[in-house]
Amino acid sequence: MKTPAGHECPHFYGDYYRGRNVEECRLLQVQGQNWSRDLCKTCPVPNIARANSCQHMELKVVVARPITAIFQRRVQVSAFCEKSKQDVSEPQIGCGECHALPFTFEVKE
Ligand code: SF4
Repeated sequence: MKTPAGHECPHFYGDYYRGRNVEECRLLQVQGQNWSRDLCKTCPVPNIARANSCQHMELKVVVARPITAIFQRRVQVSAFCEKSKQDVSEPQIGCGECHALPFTFEVKE
């Protein structure tokens, strides 16, 4: 579903049926964080979800006020792979456990 910022996000829920105006971020909600519409504008989760749909990767999110953003609230993401049991430093790419190259190159002279 599209967020208020216009990005497709698997964690956004909006109900506008018959005058309702219910909007939620279910990812922040299950992790006990407060959501507001402005967070979607700078949130990295839609880009991560578009680049990497690995079912084993779990995203952990916190809402913080980084100094670089001049104290605006931002969603900060860290990722963990449930399969390889390690932190994922580049969530867009993944941990590399499942998606190794299927062949190797050999250069013969
Ligand atoms: S805050 Fe991020 S994860 Fe939550 S609905 Fe908005 S874009 Fe999606």
